[in-house]
Amino acid sequence: MKKIYFDYASTTPADPAVMQAMEPYFFEHFGNASSPHALGREAKKAVEDARQELAGFIAAHPEEVVFTSGATESNNQAIFGVARHLKEKGDHVIVSRIEHPSVYEPVESLQKEGFQVTYLDVDKTGLVNPDDVKKAVTDQTILIAVMHASNEIGTLQPVQAIGKIAREKNISFLVDAVQTVGHIPVDVNDLNCDLLSFSAHKFYGPKGVGALYIRKGTPLKSFLLGGDQERGRRAATQNVPGIVGLGKAIELCRQKMPEEMRIQAALRDRLIEEISARIKDVVLNGHAVNRLPNNVHFSFSSVQGEALLMSLDMEGIAASQGSACTSGALEPSRVLRAIGLSDSLAYGALRLTIGRWTKEEDIDYVSAKLPPIIERLRKI
Ligand code: PMP
Repeated sequence: MKKIYFDYASTTPADPAVMQAMEPYFFEHFGNASSPHALGREAKKAVEDARQELAGFIAAHPEEVVFTSGATESNNQAIFGVARHLKEKGDHVIVSRIEHPSVYEPVESLQKEGFQVTYLDVDKTGLVNPDDVKKAVTDQTILIAVMHASNEIGTLQPVQAIGKIAREKNISFLVDAVQTVGHIPVDVNDLNCDLLSFSAHKFYGPKGVGALYIRKGTPLKSFLLGGDQERGRRAATQNVPGIVGLGKAIELCRQKMPEEMRIQAALRDRLIEEISARIKDVVLNGHAVNRLPNNVHFSFSSVQGEALLMSLDMEGIAASQGSACTSGALEPSRVLRAIGLSDSLAYGALRLTIGRWTKEEDIDYVSAKLPPIIERLRKI
């Protein structure tokens, strides 16, 4: 049976060149990057080279990049780090309703501790309105968090405009850029952000490694204590092979991204056209234009989403309802609720995300397999 991967937003396979770059750092260059001997110095050089590569890619200074275990840690560090440092200055946080749980839950936890939180609504395409951010700001606001692109519906947020408001008011601005780094240009100065988080496994690097960009001067209390690695901002022995892999993955994205954006946007549009033409009562969720080049997110009325995923799996197609992190939950996703979908449409959601190895024939395959599955499920 064919095996076709339409779930690049949940994770990507590592690029073979990434694996090749990592391998020596498990064996001949296995040193601890904090050790003063030659093996340690080799490891440290590899870490610093990766930091340089990554910083250049997002227009940051290398010393503003902290390597972490991934975006979940980066987001937790950013939110708790700012809140702990600034709790004397203010106790108000602004966050969009469609953030990933690794942003949303730390903010909910702050609320339980007594912080005031404003949750920003989105319109039916998933967009935050920067005017709502402006209205929500008070003299107690210490942090604003709005993601660059939705991992579920692919909508790209007006982060530049939101960052401008944050900058004018001297409020720290966190952007979760997990779905955009390596996929579309990300420039921390263009975005006006102070904190930016991402994970290597979303752009053909290894799992369990990521980074947090921290603009110089951003007030932040370190979350992990126990060592002075990463300039005292993240205690723990650095994951040298992982960091090398992240650096290599960035280098490949720097070379390939402009062409990949164009190719994937064309495949995305073809998939949207094919499915919309072949199936009745289908809704494309997210924004028609301000959308990730690799994201397609449909809702089919009167279809049970879990059954749809199982039927696709039986045809060798790996897809998702919206987010691997919340799959298995019985409730429809918070994001689909926030864009105002009815129960029927929220339960019948399907996310198809494409990537480096998606081919036109894969689009044809899923476009042929999906209509009879939907027809069958609608009869049940
Ligand atoms: N933010 C977003 C938007 C994501 O899509 C994800 C991963 N699904 C995360 C944060 C968390 O990343 P990780 O699981 O690699 O820590």
